[in-house]
Amino acid sequence: MAGKYVVRTFGCQMNEHDSERIAGLLEADGMEPTTEVADADVVVLNTCCIRENADNSLYGTLGHLKSLKDRRPELEIVVAGCLAQKDQDSIAQRAPHVDVVMGTHNVHRAVELLHERRRTDSTVVEILSETVAEDHELFPSALPVVRQAGYAGWVTIQMGCDNSCAFCIVPAVRGPEISRPFGDIVAEVERAAADGVTEITLLGQNVNSYGRDLTLRLRGREGATTESLDDRFLVGSAWTEADGSRVRPLFADLLRSVGSVPGIRRVRYTSPHPKDLRPETIEAMAQVPTVCEHLHLPLQSGSDTILAAMHRGYTAERYLSRLAEARAGIPDLAVTTDIIVGFPGETDADAAATLEVAAEAGYDGAFTFVYSPRPGTEAGEMTERFVDHDVAVDRMARLRQVIERSSLRSNEARVGRLDEVLVLGPSKRDPNRLSGRTRQNRLVHFTPPSPLRPGTYVQVQVTSATTTSLLGEFVDVVSTPSHRTRIPVTAG
Ligand code: SAM
Ligand code: SF4
Repeated sequence: MAGKYVVRTFGCQMNEHDSERIAGLLEADGMEPTTEVADADVVVLNTCCIRENADNSLYGTLGHLKSLKDRRPELEIVVAGCLAQKDQDSIAQRAPHVDVVMGTHNVHRAVELLHERRRTDSTVVEILSETVAEDHELFPSALPVVRQAGYAGWVTIQMGCDNSCAFCIVPAVRGPEISRPFGDIVAEVERAAADGVTEITLLGQNVNSYGRDLTLRLRGREGATTESLDDRFLVGSAWTEADGSRVRPLFADLLRSVGSVPGIRRVRYTSPHPKDLRPETIEAMAQVPTVCEHLHLPLQSGSDTILAAMHRGYTAERYLSRLAEARAGIPDLAVTTDIIVGFPGETDADAAATLEVAAEAGYDGAFTFVYSPRPGTEAGEMTERFVDHDVAVDRMARLRQVIERSSLRSNEARVGRLDEVLVLGPSKRDPNRLSGRTRQNRLVHFTPPSPLRPGTYVQVQVTSATTTSLLGEFVDVVSTPSHRTRIPVTAG
């Protein structure tokens, strides 16, 4: 398939990851990338439906593309991802100029569906209701990839989610939890390292329950033992007990194996669920030098009433005690979180409880969201308990103040210290500066003595701090990148 393509991603890292795979498939089929929609023969919109504004931005973008397609009818538009999974046929009804609609379980079919569209000359809609559990080759991480940043790789370790948080549409659009074989994950990281990737982020909706579906499957079989496991789960199985009592690997085992792949300097992961954060994970984070001192631990609410209504499976006290264990076990730990304000039925007292817990947690940063009703979720039906939007926005402003206070405090505490920074590229505000991330994921800006490629690790002395970033002075280059650069980026 000749021509140029562009992939636009809406939403989370899981979508960024899938977009890199769609790009990989299109390039394997002969297409070339472009950054401009105006130059593209194929435009892929990889969508999110976690909050309503994500829906709106898709339909806004489709509106713009309509006029382009009126002028260039050969332009092909693909809508992929969570919103496609949720809205299915209605996307093609609302936007008949779309050529292909594909869901979250068939990323691997992107090219075939485009070919089918050309053969049949009619809109192709393919939404599978679930991933074929036994066919692990269909894990998007196993597909060809074109990485946005050659030095950083995202690796899915599990798909879907078995929890039922009342606000969340993910289980409906991503399906039940399926763990990817241990050996396949490690092999993917080894291949990425051979390509020059030095930073790996392990992705899953509930990473600490990695492998739980295997236990459930094994329990369903009489006399099941570790021998019943797919061989690829056993590759490098340092985790198995001599007496066969451990039937599956834990997330901590994965951190240890991925963290010791030669060439990998940093391992991150997102997201752990507070109810499943195990001491073994904290121990592995503390012991494996490549695993970064950063924990993203979604709180969602500080009120026990709201946490129970959300079905989160922990209380505020339990959350704080797990956090205290993590801080005690991992020196220099940075902690970030997700919080929703205005969940149905949230009172002023509930909102005040969230402020208290957030202050006590002392976050380095937080993603804060106003509750957005999602069709088909339990909370989406609680219409009579919806919180007035202005009240929610006001609560959000107060929460932001609490978060900013603690993030400024922890950023100021870095002033005077040496930090290792992975260079991302030129600073958005000042092209004479470079921006990068520390192991704790803090954003740092500094002026390099000469141009440095993204992917370089440097030492920076921190000189000042704001709520969102640090400013520093370049000290030294620690290591230079070895990945191929697709689009040259200069700095200085
Ligand atoms: N699996 C992760 C966990 O359990 O924390 C969350 C994944 S979700 C893609 C990312 C974040 O979006 C959630 O942590 C939550 O704060 C937010 N979110 C999800 N549904 C939402 C909704 N209906 N309204 C507002 N925010 C929502
Ligand atoms: Fe959604 Fe809850 Fe699953 Fe996270 S754990 S993806 S919030 S259902």
